[in-house]
Amino acid sequence: MSRVKKLIRQEILDLTAYPVPNANGMIKLDAMENPYSWPAVAKEAWTDLLKDLPLNRYPDASAEQLKLGLKDAMGIDDKFDVLLGNGSDEIIQMLAMAVAKPGATILAPEPGFVMYKMIATFCGLNYVGVPLTADFELDETAMLEAVNEHQPELIFLAQPNNPTGNLWDRDVITRIIEASKGLVIMDEAYTAFTDEEHLDLLDEHEHVLVMRTLSKVGLAGLRLGLLIGRSEWLNELEKIRMPYNINMLTQASALFALENYDMLMIQTEQLRVDRVVLMKDLAAIQGVQVFPSEANFILVRVPEGMARNWFEGLKERNILIKCLDGGHPLLKDCLRITVGTTEQNEKLIEALSTIAQSGAVH
Ligand SMILES: *Cc1c(COP(=O)(O)O)cnc(C)c1O
Repeated sequence: MSRVKKLIRQEILDLTAYPVPNANGMIKLDAMENPYSWPAVAKEAWTDLLKDLPLNRYPDASAEQLKLGLKDAMGIDDKFDVLLGNGSDEIIQMLAMAVAKPGATILAPEPGFVMYKMIATFCGLNYVGVPLTADFELDETAMLEAVNEHQPELIFLAQPNNPTGNLWDRDVITRIIEASKGLVIMDEAYTAFTDEEHLDLLDEHEHVLVMRTLSKVGLAGLRLGLLIGRSEWLNELEKIRMPYNINMLTQASALFALENYDMLMIQTEQLRVDRVVLMKDLAAIQGVQVFPSEANFILVRVPEGMARNWFEGLKERNILIKCLDGGHPLLKDCLRITVGTTEQNEKLIEALSTIAQSGAVH
């Protein structure tokens, strides 16, 4: 099969596919999903709606109605445009393809969302990761130096940041935007879980775009992300978008969900309340350091060398979280826990307390 090795780009041969663990029958606290489903009446109204969709036809290519629904639900000013993606992952890919001149660069703080680097690789762009400080704040000097040195076409700033969960200093963000000659993307995947938002940056800077997704508010299965900003940018990106990237089932389901947005917001509110409880309960476990979170997940540091052990101990008890130890030097001994239902959170705390007390599994 040497033809495979000859034909496929070396940087692709070097990759390992994004690992998605089998979560069958587990309490799933690994992927920032909303743990709640819909009330029976809502489910019924939704399936009624899907029943009559003409699946023999192509979907509405512009998805105009859905865009209006999103603008309305999210309070997006009419002067800004919206571009839709099959998840925000696809939007990151469209952005990368749009700027992928030879030598083009994507820059992002690290630890951060892994898809920035992966998509840079897929699209043949350079990737520069700039380490955060030890307490996961932006290292302003290092960021400004890297921006000057590498002149990145794209900078991604996730707020709140994944996997750290925190918000960064607004003034530092502004100075990074001002130093950039490229595009700066504010990735607001977790906007539902914080009061801070960055739409105002669109007014102040012509080279900023804001990216959001429905994945973290309860619609991860739909795959719908959006990019918000000036039409000068979005008109160009529209040319790259696959005409039918948002399928008919997604369009109809998302519109239905937006008409019932209160239902999602009630769940989100519950998760925000439970986040506070979970942070307190985690902090009460011997040896656990809890980092501040404005998202629907919590980053913790466990006693030295125990992260993998605690992760496996939870897995044996049918609870799946994310072990971040080994992923980045700053994430040594770190675990990431998605906020679940009140009951799931209690089970997690019970299991973790047992594991912490026993010192080690086996
Ligand atoms: C989850 C996540 C996304 C991607 O979400 P999609 O499901 O592709 O819409 C983007 N950015 C960050 C920071 C995330 O955590």
